Parts: sequence; structure tokens; C-alpha cells
Amino acid sequence: MSLVSSVIGRGVVRTIKSLPNKKFPLIAGHKLQYSCNLKCKMCPFWRREDETLLDIDDEIRMMDSLKKAGVSFLGFEGGEPLLRKDIGEILYESKRRFHTSMVTNGWLLKAKIEDIKDSLNYLFVSLDGIGEVHDRLRGMAGSFRHAVEGIESARDEVPLAISSTITNENMDQAQGIVDLAVKLGVSVNFQIAYDYTTAEKMSPEKLKLRDTIKMLESYKLSGFPIVNSKEYFSSILNSWYGDHPWRCKPWLTINIDPLGNIVQPCYVINEYNGSVKVWDTDILDLWNTYDWAPYESCNKCALACYLEPSLFNWHNPSMVKERILDSMVSLVRGELSW
Ligand code: SF4
Ligand code: SF4
Repeated sequence: MSLVSSVIGRGVVRTIKSLPNKKFPLIAGHKLQYSCNLKCKMCPFWRREDETLLDIDDEIRMMDSLKKAGVSFLGFEGGEPLLRKDIGEILYESKRRFHTSMVTNGWLLKAKIEDIKDSLNYLFVSLDGIGEVHDRLRGMAGSFRHAVEGIESARDEVPLAISSTITNENMDQAQGIVDLAVKLGVSVNFQIAYDYTTAEKMSPEKLKLRDTIKMLESYKLSGFPIVNSKEYFSSILNSWYGDHPWRCKPWLTINIDPLGNIVQPCYVINEYNGSVKVWDTDILDLWNTYDWAPYESCNKCALACYLEPSLFNWHNPSMVKERILDSMVSLVRGELSW
């Protein structure tokens, strides 16, 4: 099943053809807020105190600016997006303009699915382990049960994948999470935790991680419902454990913070600190005058929203169509529930 509508697909190819040799953001991620009802150990966001929210008019202003710059995919994240009372309205406005996805920790999903189901193309629910392991990592008893109940209530309403972050405390859970995805009849997308300066350091030890990545790569090749592309896994193996680093293209993804500011060059290096308002900025001009060169050789993180689009040949629209549009979900903010 193609996961991206042909209308969006044609729009992407049109944008690529109309901006030859220009840099433009194809994918956008927007943090609706930093607040969350959970307190995950590796998460820097619920700890932040600089939160102010955009109202619906400014959310729409942001969307229109992104559309004008060539964005086709918009993923909402947090914090926990379902805590926003206007989430239904925001998603509705987004789906009128973009392929729209959202990542949630799932606690409120059962209660909110009716409000959001018609305004989403794809939904990610975070799960980092089975049962108590997930609860411990997420800092709240009952979070595994709520997430699974949320998945069960939403899986027939909207295409859905588990989003799982591999840390140094849950590498042994990856197989169980794939099994759970199969049992629940959904897909799963994997990410690798990155150590932010303001959260607990939990990124996996590289040598141990290698076996987990190899296992997931073999599951992917065997047809298990894993959203990541096979190239995602092989690029990590070739770069972090070999001598073939991927070339990062962070300009393909634009991130907007809760205030409507653009986060550059990427939210890993920048630790989600935006500077210029998206609607006061000529994004294409900024994108084509910014010095991206220092980041092309950066292989610091393996966040799918940056790594997956960096792997394709963007001057070959048919390759984009075949390879990305038919498995695009991992590019659209399935990486973490942040
Ligand atoms: S990782 Fe997601 S669910 Fe966990 S505290 Fe951060 S925003 Fe909340
Ligand atoms: S590899 Fe990660 S940290 Fe480095 S530039 Fe790319 S997105 Fe940013």
C-alpha cells in the first residue's frame, strides 16, 4: 500500500523539478508545545521552561509559510500534542495543505481519536519496551497499558506505527517490540537515542548497538513491518562501523519550535532553539544562503527524519517516487515522541 497519496506525490515531484539545484525543505516538523504528561528519562523537552504557544491563527500562518517554501509533509510533535485543546483544528488545517502526521505517547489517544482521526495521514505512538520497561523509561506507571489501549482504539481509524527509541537501557527490547507490532497489526519505526545536554545520557553504546541494528536490518529484509528503509540500517552500519559515512542533508527537513521560530541547522545540533519567525522569513532565500557545508560530513545522529531523506538521489524524481513516497512515513517525524 502506498502510504502517501498520489496528489502529494505529484506535488513533491513538481516541487523538485521546479527548484532545480535549489535547496528547499520538503519535510517539516513542528513542536506544538514542550509540556508533556510523561517524564521520559532521555527527553530534554518536558524540562524546558521557555514555553509559549501559538494560537490557531499563527499556526495557520506558519503552515502557509511552509507551503510556500515547498514543504509537502508536516509532522506534529511535542511534548504531548494531544494535551492541546485545539489539536483537532490544527490537524484539520494541516491536512488541507500537507501530508500530516503526529507522534503521541498514546496516553490520551483513546479519548481523543474521534477528534483527530480524519485529519491525519499517519500516526505514531511511542513505545520503548514491553510493560514495566516502557513504564520505567517513560517515568510513569501505566504508560505501556495506555499506549497499547490507544493503539487498539486508533489502528482501524488511521495508518499507525509504533515509534521506538533505542537507548542503552532497552536494546534487548527491540525484538519484543517487533513481535508486539505484528500482534497488534501495526508497523514499527526505530530510532536511536541522542544525548542532549539537558537530559539523561542514554544513547546506546556503539559496539552493543551494532548487533541490534544488524538484527533489525535482517528483520526488515525478511518482511517484518518495519517502517525504516533497509538503507537506513545499512547506512548506520557503513558509517558508524565502517568507512562510508553518509552525507547529511539537513536542509531537507525544517523544524519549527512552539513559538514559530525556525530551528537551524538541525534540531540535534541546535538543541531546539529557534531564532527567526517562520512567517517573517524568506525560507528559500535563507535555505540557499545558509552555510550548510559543515554539516554534510556530520554523522552525529541517526534521526530518521534527517538520515532517510539524505540517502536518496533528489535529482532523480522517479527514484524519489519509488523509494521515498512509497515508504515516506519514517521521514515524517516518527522518530521520537518529541
Ligand atoms: S519523550 Fe515524548 S512522551 Fe516522553 S517526556 Fe518527552 S515529549 Fe513526553
Ligand atoms: S547528522 Fe544529525 S546532528 Fe549531524 S547535521 Fe545531520 S541531522 Fe544534524
